[in-house]
Amino acid sequence: MPPAKRKITVLPGDGIGPEVVESALAIVNATGVAVEFEKCEAGAQAFKKGIVTGVPRETIDSIERTHVVLKGPLETPIGYGNRSANVTLRTLFETYGNIRPVRELPGVQTAFTGRNLDIVIVRENIEDLYAGIEYMETPGVAEGLKLISREGCEKIVKLAFAFAIAEGRKAVHCATKANIMKLTEGLLQRTFEEFAPQYPSIKSKHILIDNCAHQLAMRPEQFDVIVTTNMNGDILSDLTSGLTGGLGFAPSANIGNDVSIFEAVHGSAPDIAGKNKANPTALILSAAMMLRQIGEGKAANDVEQAVLVALESGIRTSDMIGVETPATTTEFTQVVIASLGRSSKVSPPKNYKKVEMPPSQPGVNVVAVKSRRLTGVDIYVESSLDPANLAEDLEKLTEMSPLKLLTNRGAMVYPASGRRVSLVDHFRCRFVFRDAAVSAGDAEILSLLGAVSAKYRWMHVEKLQEFDGEPAFSRSQV
Ligand code: NAP
Repeated sequence: MPPAKRKITVLPGDGIGPEVVESALAIVNATGVAVEFEKCEAGAQAFKKGIVTGVPRETIDSIERTHVVLKGPLETPIGYGNRSANVTLRTLFETYGNIRPVRELPGVQTAFTGRNLDIVIVRENIEDLYAGIEYMETPGVAEGLKLISREGCEKIVKLAFAFAIAEGRKAVHCATKANIMKLTEGLLQRTFEEFAPQYPSIKSKHILIDNCAHQLAMRPEQFDVIVTTNMNGDILSDLTSGLTGGLGFAPSANIGNDVSIFEAVHGSAPDIAGKNKANPTALILSAAMMLRQIGEGKAANDVEQAVLVALESGIRTSDMIGVETPATTTEFTQVVIASLGRSSKVSPPKNYKKVEMPPSQPGVNVVAVKSRRLTGVDIYVESSLDPANLAEDLEKLTEMSPLKLLTNRGAMVYPASGRRVSLVDHFRCRFVFRDAAVSAGDAEILSLLGAVSAKYRWMHVEKLQEFDGEPAFSRSQV
């Protein structure tokens, strides 16, 4: 009996999705690898049937069986409750690491042609501002919570190094905005610097995200692997795909503990859907990443080499710069299939290993500290008073805990800093408890809140704590 075929869930998706997925499947089949595809629905068709998550139960069941997904882009249609099927999949299967490699491809003209770019962005995929936890605090002030966990940082840092080792890469940069967001972005920097020494064969370096963007535009060849937070990674990876030819060439892998989803970086491109015009390269290269992840390294190398050989032969899709007679999606696919088994003249296959996935921690992850102390509280208050009058009034209301400062739109406005700020009706009021030596309790906060709420609308409260003697909150910007 022939060995059982490895099952893979396939989501053709929306717009150009079915065309580029069909192309990738034809090429994977032509390698002769023993895989079987379970085609499932997700995205626009599911929304139209009234499935509010955009992902039907049968699709979830299939993914739970196969653990591997090759996915076309999914639209987020307006008017179906605004849920995103992509976010549903990402959160359901906790695909916490988004790996986006780009490299110079033969015949794909860019401003950096000849500089041999080969860069991978490893982006945290679950946390950060993209968790979408937002509030209108007042009718005119919006808030978004940027939650970053030690657990999330550790997983993405370990994945970045594991990926670098599997691909024989030399360096990992960690790109953050830790100079400004010392606790959130800083947590990734600190975790990176703690774990980097465990990978002595890989050079490691922290870089500020703005400088990273500048360096990517000036000297991108200095980068190998870049690990970063969710939003930074989203922006940087579109930048790096632009450096190497655009969205039509940018593959990606969403890696989770037990499910991995492989897809192009691009969306459903509705303007060219159904025209046989889409460039399938991004999805074909995503399929190669998938083959490597399921242990089919030879087939993965064959697919990548066939794409390079096809591009070296001069075939061009309509999204490429300087193309007069572009090939259709079908023609491009046929040339890739005809190129299987041949080797690129410019870029021989790499010696990839399987990515050794960092083990996942079961249960609730806790970072233990020896001591904690509650030293004060920030109460966010809605008020149209000017800062001096508000401070005077709050001081009368809350004699038990001195008001230390007021900020407005992040800037200190009481005690007066001399800085000119356009004020809004949203103040952060920082109170410190009288006895700095002992830890206060929630009773102090509740009594303070009771006093403030007798006269003011308050929106939220943040405790000012110390962990092991270190302040666990940001100091105010003057
Ligand atoms: P997009 O679909 O990536 O398309 C932007 C433009 O890029 C297209 O209009 C097309 O430009 C070009 N393009 C993208 N992929 C191409 C390809 N393979 N071949 C040739 N040209 C390609 O971005 P969007 O228009 O912002 O988003 C459209 C829909 O996709 C939205 O519903 C969005 O939510 C969804 N989306 C899904 C995913 C996903 O499933 N992971 C990701 C992003 C967006 P020309 O005008 O030059 O033809």
